[in-house]
Amino acid sequence: MDLLFFVAVCLTFASSLSSVSAQSCGPEGVSVQVLGSGGPELQDKRASSSYLVWKDKHARVLVDAGGGSALRFGESGAQMSQLDVILFTHFHVDHTADFAALIKSSWFEDRNRPLPIYGPVGNDFMPSTTEFVTDLFGGRHGAYRYLSELLAPGEKSSYKMQLHDVAGNAKPTAVFRSGDLVVSSVRVLHGRVPALAWRVEIDDRAIVFSGDTNGDGEGLTQLAANADLFIAHNAVPEGATGIERNLHMPPSVIGQIAGNARVKRLILSHRMLRTLGKEDQTQSEIKKRFSGPLEFANDLDCFPVR
Ligand SMILES: [Zn+2]
Repeated sequence: MDLLFFVAVCLTFASSLSSVSAQSCGPEGVSVQVLGSGGPELQDKRASSSYLVWKDKHARVLVDAGGGSALRFGESGAQMSQLDVILFTHFHVDHTADFAALIKSSWFEDRNRPLPIYGPVGNDFMPSTTEFVTDLFGGRHGAYRYLSELLAPGEKSSYKMQLHDVAGNAKPTAVFRSGDLVVSSVRVLHGRVPALAWRVEIDDRAIVFSGDTNGDGEGLTQLAANADLFIAHNAVPEGATGIERNLHMPPSVIGQIAGNARVKRLILSHRMLRTLGKEDQTQSEIKKRFSGPLEFANDLDCFPVR
């Protein structure tokens, strides 16, 4: 009986330890947590694209919210009420599908300040940030118009979403500042889809998110200049052609950009069935052009930024 009691105590202690570690991405300083390391395919058994920037146990910035990321957000221990800003790289499903779930969850929290949301402008192929969020939560035609109080100016609510459409420039441009946080963006090429790469600076640390892009142009290299952490999307293998290559950068291009930008550390995410299992080849292509540390991301990985 005593032994059973001892085992039960040990198990309880172990489970409390694991729940603490699940909520400890970056206990001090700045860290980046990968909520979703996968692409659109469910068979990669990863949540789709999504990242959190933490500072001192607070989740400050959310970048994208692909399918599965809402669950990972909960697992990370973050609170929606902690966020200073949400950034979208573009409006493909694998970058946005869990946004509504995150907003609904926030309704149960105690948030009393606006929630700024920045993302690209629209075109005839994709909605702007304002259109995307209004199509979900707008009072007249929104799919989830029962939550329109979080958007509509006249309605009573604990907080409001504030929407910003960012055209993006060929050169990096600051778009948001709040306290110790500076966010800038650059326009990147991703087929016909308006898309942005983001740079988040907090406490003299710089984290750059490529989002999805084929890597053409100099903007991303400039945005990533001397970044402490560069998160790039490993969506296609070396030698990709056609539509795949038109949308995404192969490892050689990722390596070129990371090398030219002199980033301090490179993380590969947005891993897909066509790149999973090819890590050796990917790594060797990148190492020809970038000599710094390189890691492949998995869901909930936490990267302290020193
Ligand atoms: Zn995309």
